[in-house]
Amino acid sequence: MTREASPLPSLDSLLRAPSAAVLLARFGRAATTDVLRWILAERREARTFHAPAEEILDRAADVLAASFARSQKPVFNLTGTVLHTNLGRSPMPPEAADAAAEAMRSATSLEYDLDSGKRGERDSHIAPLLCRLTGAEAATVVNNNAAAVMLVLNTLALGRQVPVSRGELIEIGGAFRVPDIMSRAGAVLKEVGTTNRTHPRDYVQAIGPETAALMRVHQANYAITGFTASVPTDELARIAHEANLPLIEDLGSGSLVDLARWGLPHEPTPAEALAAGADVVTFSGDKLLGGPQAGLIVGKKALIARINANPLKRALRLDKGRLAALEVVLRLYLDPDRLAEKLPALRLLTRAEADIWATAERMAALIQRAWPARRVAVEACRSQIGSGALPVDLLPSAAVTIGGGGLESLASALRGLPWPVIGRIAQDRVWLDCRCLEPADEAAFAAQLPVAA
Ligand SMILES: *Cc1c(COP(=O)(O)O)cnc(C)c1O
Repeated sequence: MTREASPLPSLDSLLRAPSAAVLLARFGRAATTDVLRWILAERREARTFHAPAEEILDRAADVLAASFARSQKPVFNLTGTVLHTNLGRSPMPPEAADAAAEAMRSATSLEYDLDSGKRGERDSHIAPLLCRLTGAEAATVVNNNAAAVMLVLNTLALGRQVPVSRGELIEIGGAFRVPDIMSRAGAVLKEVGTTNRTHPRDYVQAIGPETAALMRVHQANYAITGFTASVPTDELARIAHEANLPLIEDLGSGSLVDLARWGLPHEPTPAEALAAGADVVTFSGDKLLGGPQAGLIVGKKALIARINANPLKRALRLDKGRLAALEVVLRLYLDPDRLAEKLPALRLLTRAEADIWATAERMAALIQRAWPARRVAVEACRSQIGSGALPVDLLPSAAVTIGGGGLESLASALRGLPWPVIGRIAQDRVWLDCRCLEPADEAAFAAQLPVAA
């Protein structure tokens, strides 16, 4: 049996073809050659020896475009969880993002004192702001709050005991479990109390010669209700200080301002924790604070100095881009009257329900036009703050709901849009909570919807 044999083109002839010039210009010689070689090998393996040059070059163009496309993309977070950890948590104010981009593009005064012309301190850009906003004596910042907790424990309690209430031995998604982080930090966890009730005497009895500090962990993503008791910060501080021990408080989300001012539930602030007697307080930069990923540490001067002297600090430090963004975000807090307008995280959390409904109605009409066969409606829903701040459904909102079967493939089509749309499936429909679709982005959302046949 004979085969119509037009042998596979050679690599050289492919690279000389006119359409290869476009690929070479766009993707470079190394990547283009690699991909062509790989396609030729694939054809040989599949025993398809009759592929014309143009077919191979077309396939190379697809493979190259896919491998040069950005993997991390902006998405529309219509999940209803505002600070969604998997979607990058808090959006940042444009001026903070600009400051980060500018710092990353050029040399900066990161560790350089422009007054003296001598070496400066990386923390000097944010520490005075943090002290002013929390009332702390001193402050520093590291990669994230997990790093902050680890660094604090490693500095203050290496090889020694830290009593923690059993009601606070929490897991916060993924790999952050309080007992695990404590043991990796080199501290020895001493569990006290029970899951639902821990009393002052439990701590007092746990304190011994091996105790290095007391620690309190904010019950971030769950609530213990019913027959409960826990020891408030001021009382725990008193117990710690009587034993000459520092009190560490991990606030988790920790808002810098009282959210009750905007009708949101009160989250404990670092200022309150410090005023109640905590000696070191840690919290995240990209949760309620609304800034970049960071772990903020505020507290007593002598303790922060020890933390800064720990060699691990260097391994956990923040880069100049995020420091630049954090500085801009912290400065917004100096003007709390305009915070809800300028800080996207807070703006989204406080967005008026009627405003969200209006967006949902506009988007529903467009979505119905894109998918005429589907059942599209606007329905009431509730958004979550996310990132462990108050676990309950809280914020009245409005969603575009899309029903009519094949929901997984609809959700996948939404994820496949150039600016992917992430919703959730519940009660036989796809829900797109419109809280985080701000009017400024509606046009971009609409422009990418498919045109119905
Ligand atoms: C979120 C959280 C952490 C971890 O903070 P990251 O910034 O994600 O590292 C630690 N402790 C508590 C109580 C939290 O809520």
